[in-house]
Amino acid sequence: MNETTFSSTSSASSSYGAVVIGGGFYGARLASMLRRRGLRVLLVEREGSLLARASTRNQARVHNGYHYPRSILTSMRSRLNYRRFLDEYRDCVHTGFTHYYAIARGMSKVTARQFAEFCRRIEAPLAPAPSQIAKLFDTSRIEAVFEVEECAFDAGALAARMTRELADAGVDVLLETEAVSVTSTHGGVEVALRHSPDAARPSVHPSTHPPVSADLAFNCTYSRLNHVLTASSAEPIPAKHELTELALVEPPEELGGAAVTVMDGPFFSLMPYPSRGLYTLSHVRYTPHYNWHDRPNQPVVDVLTTRGATRFDHMVRDAMRYLPAMRGTRYVDSLWEVKTVMPRSEKDDSRPILLRRCAEHPALITVLGAKIDSVYDVEDALLAALDQRPVPPVPRPSPTDVRRLPDFDRRPAGRR
Ligand SMILES: Cc1cc2nc3c(=O)[nH]c(=O)nc-3n(C[C@H](O)[C@H](O)[C@H](O)COP(=O)(O)OP(=O)(O)OC[C@H]3O[C@@H](n4cnc5c(N)ncnc54)[C@H](O)[C@@H]3O)c2cc1C
Repeated sequence: MNETTFSSTSSASSSYGAVVIGGGFYGARLASMLRRRGLRVLLVEREGSLLARASTRNQARVHNGYHYPRSILTSMRSRLNYRRFLDEYRDCVHTGFTHYYAIARGMSKVTARQFAEFCRRIEAPLAPAPSQIAKLFDTSRIEAVFEVEECAFDAGALAARMTRELADAGVDVLLETEAVSVTSTHGGVEVALRHSPDAARPSVHPSTHPPVSADLAFNCTYSRLNHVLTASSAEPIPAKHELTELALVEPPEELGGAAVTVMDGPFFSLMPYPSRGLYTLSHVRYTPHYNWHDRPNQPVVDVLTTRGATRFDHMVRDAMRYLPAMRGTRYVDSLWEVKTVMPRSEKDDSRPILLRRCAEHPALITVLGAKIDSVYDVEDALLAALDQRPVPPVPRPSPTDVRRLPDFDRRPAGRR
């Protein structure tokens, strides 16, 4: 299908070519992409600003493949998307630090030799860390330390840039507005809206908005993807959620501003968090405070970001066993967020994208990506799907299989 036939057919003010639900990085990018294709686009966000949730409250790592030695496909995709992200968002990345990956001796799922071989296979730059860095680690617990090429993004700069780009592109944006549910109409959808129940400011809008209609709707709500689906009487997508805590810290002076990631198991990472001029300390064991699952035929649990008692002490005490200099880390604050992953990621540590047409409402498409850079995979797949319109009736994919998407072409762009 070409751009002309894909455009919105109605000129009524409440009718759009596409409504994008969720103004995180994924929703903002998708809204901008659809607008560039000539559609009239509405972006609806329940918070008071864009990219206020997971797209800001994260570790800020621009993944360059190193993190996934157990999923070569995810690593290869990360390598490709790393370049794309850096080329496009050079003004939103922070490269002024050195990043070291340390391989633990016990409990690690890879050895130093395997890690080096894996980096060679994915052609990721790797060098032994300088001796003044390597000697900071406890060699009885750390087998080897490598210098890698992996930077951090500045979530504040990214949010400002996306806000600007959406305004320039002419995307209509409704903040402090929640998309409650979606119903199918002849040839499209109607999206019910209301003033966000947890908006920080008192309501300046009426508590309900008139519904908007659109040819297509995109559910880009990340941890709340199943709230939209179940409220729309659609089957939820199996997903695991974790309430996570990233400690915001001042790093120890001995590290000279470097980032450290210990692989591959229940260890820690220390990463710059440029938008606050601090670092995040995270720990595979202590960052998730608790978890829950969305499953078919079960009510969806409603956990908004809750704060708990910080586990910084646990994180830093364990980190000191591998890197004694971590003793000098100073706690400042914590970032709390719900992290959502596909159940498959738990088995092989892969980070597949989810792009799924709703069986009950064919004009509603749910999008989920486990990393910032995977937005490129989503866009490639979506563009291919849109260009092949009209899309044949959608066979219902098996609920746990996010790889087989018969209605979307997910081949890499260059191979189409
Ligand atoms: C602790 C943690 C660490 C992470 N570390 C990294 C990392 O280092 N590198 C990396 O690449 N990725 C990382 N990620 C993953 C990354 O943050 C996500 O993949 C990415 O932010 C997802 O973007 P999104 O736009 O889908 O989600 P979000 O940014 O959460 O956007 C979804 C938006 O939808 C809105 N919304 C929800 N429901 C509704 C509704 N009904 N109506 C209107 N709006 C609604 C929300 O308010 C939110 O703004 C991490 C995630 C977490 C939680």
